[in-house]
Amino acid sequence: MDATVRNYLDQYGVSDATRRFLQKPQKMFIGGDWVDSSNGATFDIFEPSTGGLITQGPPGTTDDLDRAVAAARAQFDGGEWRRLKPLERERMLHRLADLLETHADELAEIEAIDMGKSVTFAREIDIQGTIDTFRYFAGWPTKLHGRTVEPSIPGNYLAYTRKEPLGVVAAIVPWNFPLQTMAWKLAAALAAGCTVVVKPAELTSLSTLRFAELVEEAGIPAGVVNIVTGKGSVIGAAMSTHPGINKVTFTGSTPVGQEVGRTAVSNLKHVTLELGGKSPVLVLDDADLASAARAVANGVFFNSGQVCDAGTRVYIQRSVHDAFLEELIAVARELKMAPGLDRDCYIGPMVSAQQKKVVASYIEAGVREGAKLVYGGASPEGPGHFIEPAIFAHCTPEMSIVREEIFGPVLVTSPFDTLEEAVALANDTPFGLAAAIYSNDLARVHTLIPQLHAGSVYVNAHSTIDPSMPFGGFKDSGFGKDLGPEQLDYLMETKAVWITLP
Ligand code: NAP
Ligand code: MG
Repeated sequence: MDATVRNYLDQYGVSDATRRFLQKPQKMFIGGDWVDSSNGATFDIFEPSTGGLITQGPPGTTDDLDRAVAAARAQFDGGEWRRLKPLERERMLHRLADLLETHADELAEIEAIDMGKSVTFAREIDIQGTIDTFRYFAGWPTKLHGRTVEPSIPGNYLAYTRKEPLGVVAAIVPWNFPLQTMAWKLAAALAAGCTVVVKPAELTSLSTLRFAELVEEAGIPAGVVNIVTGKGSVIGAAMSTHPGINKVTFTGSTPVGQEVGRTAVSNLKHVTLELGGKSPVLVLDDADLASAARAVANGVFFNSGQVCDAGTRVYIQRSVHDAFLEELIAVARELKMAPGLDRDCYIGPMVSAQQKKVVASYIEAGVREGAKLVYGGASPEGPGHFIEPAIFAHCTPEMSIVREEIFGPVLVTSPFDTLEEAVALANDTPFGLAAAIYSNDLARVHTLIPQLHAGSVYVNAHSTIDPSMPFGGFKDSGFGKDLGPEQLDYLMETKAVWITLP
């Protein structure tokens, strides 16, 4: 750890538990063992609010992946995990949730330090969401069952279906909600009886490695959960072709997801793809403008805009356009830009210098293409990868800031007149992750909901997420669902059993 990061941790009084974790050598968790990379190499792990070096991690190799898959396979094909009664699996998952609860503050600090996000939101959203996801799916193992059927064909049969876990699941996770997205993949897979190999994003592996210590402490059998850190182009890519893996569940960008999906399907693996978005927001003329402005700002600037279902395209009915824009700018002005460990931080840094560069170049492109920058958008000089929230007005459909996912705090707006026009603008995108409507006119709201091509529709809200509700996109935002009972269908096979009776 370099002095910049040490001073930063001192300044904000980071707990001893977090310091101890950050100072010890980081290892992967494979088959219940803590191991270095098989090639002995390391990669650097940076802190985004200061740009300083935290520690090093092991870049997994395909040999490491082979060992992880073999361990997961052995547990699945006849290990202790496969023989556990459903109620015992439930107890284990609850034990893990208890440990996550006990160590929640520490996990929030680790997440804030590694990813740069607000420690307050990390605790309230990421870590609480992780705990809730494990609690929710802990209740499922005893409730997974098939049906008995009375067939009509000639003969006398007992016909029934069995629900069986798919097997070894590989989870590829992005850096924006590292622990929570991992939980979205893992909790349901374990509830279904699968075993898993997780590849966290190289930028944000630390909370997942701390999580693995809790998996061990919870008494989950060795090999059920394996963590292989390192590069997506090495470990992630090898997962889609690995003969020992039955399913790949991927959250990340659309181009990488397409590649993962293509390879996984051509190797006849099951696949779930949670990809990018460019979610539209419709503000109707009857909306409560003050509360809508707050929700819209939160819907795009939360986590500094590094949110897959961020409501980045805002269409405002013309008669309230100017008034709403003013409200929105007033809310944006109040958002505190600060290092992630500052408890009042709202806008933390971008995850990396590279991400800051990408976002800044989109802001420049917006100005160049003729959009009107009505608020923010500056890139302060370091330290840290900060960028001010930006609001553009009078954007037109062909602009790159309107079409492409930026994954930063950049909001584009334009007026509309009729609801037909609003629907056309909203759906004018290859993505289909989410959409939002601000209105209290029930008839108009219900008319709009079925017309929006999106996996989630929020009304007078944004990014409301709960483990009991499925999450997943339409169109180029991918397929399959995380969360909700729906997710379990993507993690289990249905076996049809026919027994001839006398
Ligand atoms: P990304 O570049 O696609 O990376 C996602 C994960 O895939 C990382 O773990 C990455 O590893 C790995 N990866 C990279 N190349 C790979 C390859 N060739 N084969 C297999 N895996 C590979 O996305 P990101 O920049 O981390 O995350 C931002 C994106 O995720 C945005 O597009 C966002 O919309 C999307 N996202 C979607 C959801 C959703 O639920 N729909 C949620 C959150 C984020 P390394 O980076 O470590 O190399
Ligand atoms: Mg980091």
